[in-house]
Amino acid sequence: MPCTNHNTDWLCSPDGAKAFTSKFGSNVELVIRPFPILVEFVPIHLNTNDLSALREIEHKNALLTGTIKSARWIKPIKWRSPLQWKAHLTLEILKPSDANQAIKNSLIVLEPCCSIHKLLPEPTWCMKCQSFKGLHFTKECKKLDDTCGTCTGNYRIKECEAISLDQCYCANCKEARHAAWDCECLIYLEKVR
Ligand SMILES: [Zn+2]
Ligand SMILES: [Zn+2]
Ligand SMILES: [Zn+2]
Repeated sequence: MPCTNHNTDWLCSPDGAKAFTSKFGSNVELVIRPFPILVEFVPIHLNTNDLSALREIEHKNALLTGTIKSARWIKPIKWRSPLQWKAHLTLEILKPSDANQAIKNSLIVLEPCCSIHKLLPEPTWCMKCQSFKGLHFTKECKKLDDTCGTCTGNYRIKECEAISLDQCYCANCKEARHAAWDCECLIYLEKVR
């Protein structure tokens, strides 16, 4: 059961989830889908794998502990230019009300200048087949093989060895010389803006 509006905030809370499970039995699994938001121009020294860094963001923004489920850079780190010091980040926020609040009031992510927030479509981007159509989540992807978001090879983006634009091929618009994660991809722009 995805949390899709404000009324489901209660279900998303630990107490609500417990009460729901006790009423409907433990065979009913409550799947809480977090709400992804796009935070632009975040200093790249943020360590997205460090849970204490996420707790720090929550603390600085007066959010409850655990509100931010995950953080992920949109563009693979190895594609950053040597002069780049800020990048776009996706934060998965547990409750829709907190996500909306963040979009409205902005967030402090290492520094307060992260002022532009846009809600990504829900569900958003399948990291397995790179689809932006929003029809399924990565975990639910029916494709057997992974599709590389950089070159469309049959492997995960982490294993990709492409190093130049000439090796990039977009899985979504099927055009050469850019990757599926490229902010200049028209399909990407259409879905994110
Ligand atoms: Zn997929
Ligand atoms: Zn690749
Ligand atoms: Zn494209």
